[in-house]
Amino acid sequence: MGHPLFTAFLDGAEATGIPRFGSANGVLMEANSGGAVREENIHDGVRQTPFRRYVADRVGQPNLTVLPHTTVSRVLASAGRARGVELVRDGQPLLARASQEVVLSLGAIGTPAVLLRSGIGDEDELRYLGIPVVQHLPGVGRNLDDHIRLPCMWEATDVPLPVPTRSQAVCFWEDETRPGAPEFVMYLSPAPSVSPESAAQYPLPERCFTLMPAMRPRGGSRGRVRLASTDPMAGPRIETNFLADPDDVRSALSAVAMAREIGNSAALRPFVEREVSPASSVADTVEEFVRDAVETFWHQCGTSRMGRDEGAVVDARLKVYGIEGLRVADASVLPHVTVANTMAPSMVVGERAAEILAAERG
Ligand SMILES: Cc1cc2nc3c(=O)[nH]c(=O)nc-3n(C[C@H](O)[C@H](O)[C@H](O)COP(=O)(O)OP(=O)(O)OC[C@H]3O[C@@H](n4cnc5c(N)ncnc54)[C@H](O)[C@@H]3O)c2cc1C
Repeated sequence: MGHPLFTAFLDGAEATGIPRFGSANGVLMEANSGGAVREENIHDGVRQTPFRRYVADRVGQPNLTVLPHTTVSRVLASAGRARGVELVRDGQPLLARASQEVVLSLGAIGTPAVLLRSGIGDEDELRYLGIPVVQHLPGVGRNLDDHIRLPCMWEATDVPLPVPTRSQAVCFWEDETRPGAPEFVMYLSPAPSVSPESAAQYPLPERCFTLMPAMRPRGGSRGRVRLASTDPMAGPRIETNFLADPDDVRSALSAVAMAREIGNSAALRPFVEREVSPASSVADTVEEFVRDAVETFWHQCGTSRMGRDEGAVVDARLKVYGIEGLRVADASVLPHVTVANTMAPSMVVGERAAEILAAERG
């Protein structure tokens, strides 16, 4: 176990009834609640990225070309088949033709933006933007899912805080109104982490830690990715729709209550000078605090979701409906956000895509 701050965090969670597990993976993933020290992908003392592990050593291979600082503007399709992609590099347009097929892996924001720019999306939206319709697929960009994060902060005593500042422990617990799997996850960061709206309300203490409860939103709070313009260099418009569902507001309040119970627990007392937020928030109610504090946890997914209904974008083999030779392999295909973080599930999608392609192409 690492720093005592994280032991205290798990002790505090245990005092509320969240049992402790030996690993954050395995059995805990089948339980309704639990806390554990986190595992990390560390090699030779360096935290690994998917690029470092999967791609870096293969950059010299003849069948792989990596073009940095290059933007995919759209998929080129004709007669119902993807033929390649149009790119922008150093302000110049480039064309990459596909000898077999195109696999988009641009993430839950980038992939729907490129599909829409390619004329693949809701036909009314495409016509409004003046983009010729290649394939009517109303689900493109819809169903944006994520974890909603609600940071609560404590000023710390002068007990040394851990470095680096990322959380070494995690806990999960269920929403009694939605039993079956944990809806809540919480990390502790020995650093400030606040939304701009909350930060404007009180001075950040020099030494502090943040409890970051997060929740999975209900269907009524799903957001949408739209195009703000047809310019490939312009960012899309992201409508998160956080807390649109009134039941999600109730869940958010209960997540903040849990963070306060753990943050103000006997276990964490040696580290706590005082509760900063929500206690010092200028908001009149905890709900107002929640609406100021709410943030993304950067776990966006769902915007090109897999399924069989009208809102689905890809099938079980990751193929985009209605277009031959086009697949999506990233977090956008996940129908909804997973219980925990989304990097590992995104890698599973990538592994599965590789398996499917290898099987189909021999
Ligand atoms: C700040 C931050 C911290 C995170 N921390 C964690 C964590 O600790 N643990 C965890 O499990 N998950 C974490 N996540 C979430 C995790 O990184 C994502 O869920 C995961 O990377 C999604 O994989 P992806 O392949 O769908 O998309 P990405 O990893 O986002 O890959 C998409 C790539 O496509 C590129 N791209 C997009 N559009 C274009 C375009 N038009 N042309 C060219 N390139 C384009 C992007 O620049 C990006 O490199 C974090 C995310 C963020 C943003």
